[in-house]
Amino acid sequence: MRLIFHGPPGVGKGTQAGRISLAENLSHISSGDLLRTAVDAKTEIGLKAKEYIENGLLVPDELIVNIVADKINSAECDKGFILDGFPRNLSQARVLDSTLEKVERKLDRVFSFTASEEVIITRISGRRLCKSCGAHYHEIFSPPLKENVCDKCDAKLFQRKDDYPETIKVRLKVYKEQTEALIDYYNKKGILIEVDCNGDKKEIQENILTGLRSMSEEKRDLE
Ligand code: AMP
Repeated sequence: MRLIFHGPPGVGKGTQAGRISLAENLSHISSGDLLRTAVDAKTEIGLKAKEYIENGLLVPDELIVNIVADKINSAECDKGFILDGFPRNLSQARVLDSTLEKVERKLDRVFSFTASEEVIITRISGRRLCKSCGAHYHEIFSPPLKENVCDKCDAKLFQRKDDYPETIKVRLKVYKEQTEALIDYYNKKGILIEVDCNGDKKEIQENILTGLRSMSEEKRDLE
């Protein structure tokens, strides 16, 4: 299975991509994580990408498309993948199409996640991370036992700069201006499934699994 999880920042696509990739044995490719790793490692790409990320803007295509294409072409993606956060604009979508065409592969489905702006802002602004062990928390939905301290390793929690309220607004605007058009692009290809993400994580996961099951049934009927 080759899937895209598409949607605005904070809609929950990363969380769901993590869960579904484990459940279905797929590779989880998060372009945001790849870029943040490059920033932390201070690679040439990371140094160039840092400012864009912190300001809530898309990094230029040339900083991300090759990293993602290399991942897709690597052996770890032979079993299938979930792309989370890529593509973010039409030119990235076209690069993805040609990357897959070259190896005679196709995308199976694009799950388009939606939620109200209020839900999105609450989800993003409460996110807290532990840099030391990678644990994720949320001020309201999954707070640590001790305020701002990681339950697992006692390190101080931090908030991503691009999760600050003023930057969330920029990210949502960028999504509307550059990324939302992909819904139409994939709808026209007949591979789009919409997922309502206003509910809780378990409910959303069930909706995705239902979509995946209907996809497998369709495939079986065609065989
Ligand atoms: P994410 O974790 O997917 O919300 O991504 C965090 C930030 O990384 C975004 O706000 C962008 O600055 C950058 N980024 C991630 N994926 C892409 C992409 N496909 N194209 C351009 N910038 C990206």
